[in-house]
Amino acid sequence: MTGYIVLGLVMLLPAILGGKLARNRGRNIVLWALLSALFPIFIMVIYFEKPVRDVPGGFRRCPSCREFNPWKVTHCKYCTAEFPVSPL
Ligand SMILES: [Zn+2]
Repeated sequence: MTGYIVLGLVMLLPAILGGKLARNRGRNIVLWALLSALFPIFIMVIYFEKPVRDVPGGFRRCPSCREFNPWKVTHCKYCTAEFPVSPL
């Protein structure tokens, strides 16, 4: 019984981490949480995945060069174009 609880906790952490990273990238949270729980290598995979769309608080697309940047930056790290003021 205790073994199952320990196993559950060990799998919960990568699941939360994978789910959070997936949410920031506009991806399927449940799918990535499951994959990360079963195969923690998927945390690395989703970490390096590009976002599929603008995600408030996560990433947004540069209006000039269409590359994704972290939400908080004020200038694009690829073409240095200035971002419009965040609607948040
Ligand atoms: Zn840019």
